[in-house]
Amino acid sequence: MLKTVKFGGTSMADAAMMRKCEKILRSDPARRYVVVSAPGKRFAGDEKVTDLLYRLYAEKYSGKDNGETLEKISSRFQEIVCDLGISFDLAGELAVIRRKLKENVPLEWLISRGEYLCAKIFACYLGWPFADAEKMIVFQENGTLAEETYDNVYAMLKDLDHAVIPGFYGRGPDGEVKTFTRGGSDVTGSVIARGMRVDLYENWTDVSGVKSADPRVIKDAKTVRWISYRELRELSYMGASVMHEEAVFPLKKTGIPICIRNTMAPEEEGTMIVANYPVEREKHPVTGIAGKKGFSNLQIEKALMNTQIGFGAKVLDIFAKHGISYEHTPTSIDIMSVICETLFMESCRNELIMEIDAALHPDRIFIEDGMALVAVVGEGIDANVGVAARVLQSIAEAGINVRMIDAGCSELNIIIGVNDTDYEKTIHALYDGLYEFL
Ligand code: ASP
Repeated sequence: MLKTVKFGGTSMADAAMMRKCEKILRSDPARRYVVVSAPGKRFAGDEKVTDLLYRLYAEKYSGKDNGETLEKISSRFQEIVCDLGISFDLAGELAVIRRKLKENVPLEWLISRGEYLCAKIFACYLGWPFADAEKMIVFQENGTLAEETYDNVYAMLKDLDHAVIPGFYGRGPDGEVKTFTRGGSDVTGSVIARGMRVDLYENWTDVSGVKSADPRVIKDAKTVRWISYRELRELSYMGASVMHEEAVFPLKKTGIPICIRNTMAPEEEGTMIVANYPVEREKHPVTGIAGKKGFSNLQIEKALMNTQIGFGAKVLDIFAKHGISYEHTPTSIDIMSVICETLFMESCRNELIMEIDAALHPDRIFIEDGMALVAVVGEGIDANVGVAARVLQSIAEAGINVRMIDAGCSELNIIIGVNDTDYEKTIHALYDGLYEFL
């Protein structure tokens, strides 16, 4: 059994947390390759090291760097080194950062230093080798990972019993440090897991797994034990995020499962994210309920719309021209709706209306704001009779008005549009109504 383990920012926040992580690592010899984030928040209102590094960069290039931010970053690491009681050349590492700051320091190099230093310190504490991600993870010109990445990982780690690897970055085609998007250490964990062909990727964070309903609304929602890659993608897209959205992609073809675990509660078994779901679907047709507020509906009405070939394509073309991605396009014979995040269309509402009007001469066109979308997700929805009925019944019984329904043919999810103001009530109604299916 071989495992890749990733510890997030809260797990690396200070020396006490690092000690907990050490305990987790030493309790299972299969946990051999460790990916770490930069130290995160220790308490509400605290600052993440990566945020401080972004600020440092902004201050440098706006001429506002008075040394304070670098001082904060240095003392954060100094405290960790001191509390761990290790001998580590932090002054030498910080001198490199200081020197680079005097030159034209590239953004991605600077913001990656949180992970770099954290991994080096943690490696020193554990007595394990440090393996720099920059030497393994290679981005292509278009931002995707080069296939050689996985061979590099294998070549670099195969002879090491253990290794600590910084998350969040690799190198670009020009050889310079290049980062993933925020939260990208999760992706590094997947890349290392795939390169080393491990049996399991454990992602240790500050929650006990994926919750079966929006935890901001249902405080004691059940933790999901098994979830498929596809379900996770749907749920995280709808706001139930426990991991970086792209972390599943490197593992999809390999079938390597990911287990979400809580560093503060290591006795809990967490959520297993798998390619194929092992639980009987008739018992648990629904995996989770998630949702987001802040959507708008642009509605177009035109008599005989159904006879005009290419009508929908022209509408969507106008959205694409403005760089707006849409969520749903429910249609009836003479009405087409395009639903997208209000934020995306904020700056071009009038242009959208005028351009659609000029191109397609609709009888009526308007935008309605204030919609929330709620998704009921489950691989078992299509094989079970009555889930959709129960969804609608639960909402109706709670006196909530449904503004839109979209159930894709794949039946992986049922999406309901309601007023923003009914969002919380809808989540409650669905959680109670679907409880036996969860
Ligand atoms: N430290 C980076 C961030 O805060 C990456 C990560 O933690 O995964 O986004």
